[in-house]
Amino acid sequence: AQLEKPSHLDKLNPQQRRAVEHGVGARATAPAGPLLIIAGAGSGKTNTLAHRVAHLILNGADPRRILLMTFSRRASVEMSRRVERIARTVLGGNGASIDALAWAGTFHGIGARLLREYCEQIGLDPAFTIHDREDSADLMNLERHALGFSKTETRFPTKGTCLAIYSRCVNAEQPLDDVLNSSFRWCAAWAKELKELFAGYVEAKQRQNVLDYDDLLLYWAQMMGDPALAADVGGRFDHVLVDEYQDTNRLQSSVLLALKRDGRGLTVVGDDAQSIYSFRAATVRNILDFPKHFDPPAEVVTLDRNYRSTQPILAAANGVIDLAAERFTKNLWSDREAAERPRLVGVRDEADQARYIVERVLENREAGALLKHQAVLFRASHHSGPLEVELAQRNIPFVKFGGLKFLDAAHVKDLLALLRFAENPRDRVAGFRLLQLLPGVGPTTAQRVLDRMHASTHPVSTLEEVPTPARVVNAEWSDFVSTVVALHAGGAGWPAEIAQARAWYDPHLERLHEDASPRRADLLQLEQIAAGYPSRQRFLTELTLDPPDATSDEAGPPLQDEDYLILSTIHSAKGQEWKSIFVLNVVDGCIPSDLGTGTTAEIEEERRLLYVAMTRAKDDLHLMVPQRFFTHGQAVNGDRHVYAARTRFIPNALLKLFEATTWPMASAEDRARSAAQGVRINVGARMREMWR
Ligand code: ATP
Ligand code: MG
Repeated sequence: AQLEKPSHLDKLNPQQRRAVEHGVGARATAPAGPLLIIAGAGSGKTNTLAHRVAHLILNGADPRRILLMTFSRRASVEMSRRVERIARTVLGGNGASIDALAWAGTFHGIGARLLREYCEQIGLDPAFTIHDREDSADLMNLERHALGFSKTETRFPTKGTCLAIYSRCVNAEQPLDDVLNSSFRWCAAWAKELKELFAGYVEAKQRQNVLDYDDLLLYWAQMMGDPALAADVGGRFDHVLVDEYQDTNRLQSSVLLALKRDGRGLTVVGDDAQSIYSFRAATVRNILDFPKHFDPPAEVVTLDRNYRSTQPILAAANGVIDLAAERFTKNLWSDREAAERPRLVGVRDEADQARYIVERVLENREAGALLKHQAVLFRASHHSGPLEVELAQRNIPFVKFGGLKFLDAAHVKDLLALLRFAENPRDRVAGFRLLQLLPGVGPTTAQRVLDRMHASTHPVSTLEEVPTPARVVNAEWSDFVSTVVALHAGGAGWPAEIAQARAWYDPHLERLHEDASPRRADLLQLEQIAAGYPSRQRFLTELTLDPPDATSDEAGPPLQDEDYLILSTIHSAKGQEWKSIFVLNVVDGCIPSDLGTGTTAEIEEERRLLYVAMTRAKDDLHLMVPQRFFTHGQAVNGDRHVYAARTRFIPNALLKLFEATTWPMASAEDRARSAAQGVRINVGARMREMWR
């Protein structure tokens, strides 16, 4: 009877509806053939995917047998939220069944869960812990030192670069030499040493029973290489749906295709014009080649109506992407008429940029818009520094996505290191960090203790036998050992053991940090977060894969009903939308970033990035163009400020699509002030020049 009133489909346009209903017949018990939805920004791809999930469930699909994945964590949260909302509306009283939609997350998160379940079959010790990028870089560094590469005369690549190269090899499934040649040419002279280093790194991970992010995909892909296991894992799901498919890499696509070899039940969604993750080896070929993997090829649905943005915003965004070297075949249109064109706002410097934004944001709030419905986007996390200061001074709450994470704070990492070491005493990075918290223990002593522990099959009992190292106070050593032993054995139970860990750490916190009290509050916060997880293992896994966002407030993430402004890197803003958008530093050197001034491919990716930023806006869009900005690059005459030019992605020919303004209007008073501050530029002249 439910099927006779397809009300939830009425809101969809015919193409969207075709995608939602693809293969869902009245008697369809078997999942339909593969489906690709490829379409531009704001055309309702995610929405359509969410409707499709709801529609499948409504037609009898078992939500426990639906797998929903995306690449980035933010996109995954956004997707789950939409599916839930739509499904609850569509399913009505039947909404409870949506709770059973248990397999939704990022590729990495899903990989971690499956590996936990199948670890025995693939010879993985179930106590494995997961290293985040920073831990991985630390382990890489330990190996570098062990092999003596950090002491060589010529400069060996940094730990971060080593990890980036390693990660690229894994994710692109490419040999080291190819990766060096294509993307890291300046490291090519080190090919032999890097090979040795990576072999050591891989071996260290296995010995210590830790997996890094890449391993979650790599092990999963290897598991899928075994036909019996692949059939078993694939057989658990009737439908596998992926959003933001343009950002997947080779490894992810190979996992996906192995899940459903014949493509039955597979739906992938994406936009090739929004591919912005090639630095993590994402390849747009995945989405373009998807249909050809199957026989008959996948059904392809394209959507061309943009429901998000006003017509002028869409026209400007289309203008920018139309200049791309590559042709994207989408012709998006919108019927949301508006008089206002997006603004290109020339300002003197980043301080004025911050002031302009604060004023506009407050104006919008006066006019009834919530702070939450406005977002400030930027290319690199440090670009928002001056704005954060201004917001703090004006008491405007904000949340920052994609920035320094709560979990990156030293004290939080210390406490987590203790928990991780208790969970997996072979985790050397955790042990190394932890031991050095003890006064008197340096790197050499820490290494020695760990060597001894790790030579034994029972590292924790061995720790108990280690005599107090020289220069360490006896009581502090035995306190440390007994804490590790107790926690390893399960401690006071979960999550009470966190209090136990905090009690041990507190004197160290006091000694190491002058501002102990806000840090203590952070740790209390961590304890509260921990209470939401069923076990230490789940807590550590989920936290590593899915860290909470940084906030303006020491007290931790804001509550649901609070209002706050969103600050986000463009990468983290993927898939989302806001009423008003401000984009910082739309100048050459930022977009495209100075890091990306190399190859044409890199520049083109930066153009798509600007496109992603612009297409987040629903009603108004402000692109900020400061004349000077702070650079982390080379200082010129001791000055780290550089003069900027409007981004090359908005050449003069596109200016007609924008409302070009300057702010504040340069008055005589302003000129006098800037002269007094030693700003050596003629504001008026440069501002005029900017739009010429
Ligand atoms: P992106 O490429 O940025 O991820 P998208 O293609 O996934 O965008 P959505 O986020 O799904 O687009 O949709 C954009 C906006 O359009 C949302 O606010 C959504 O609610 C709205 N929308 C989508 N389809 C329709 C429709 N048929 N009728 C009305 N609004 C729609
Ligand atoms: Mg989307």
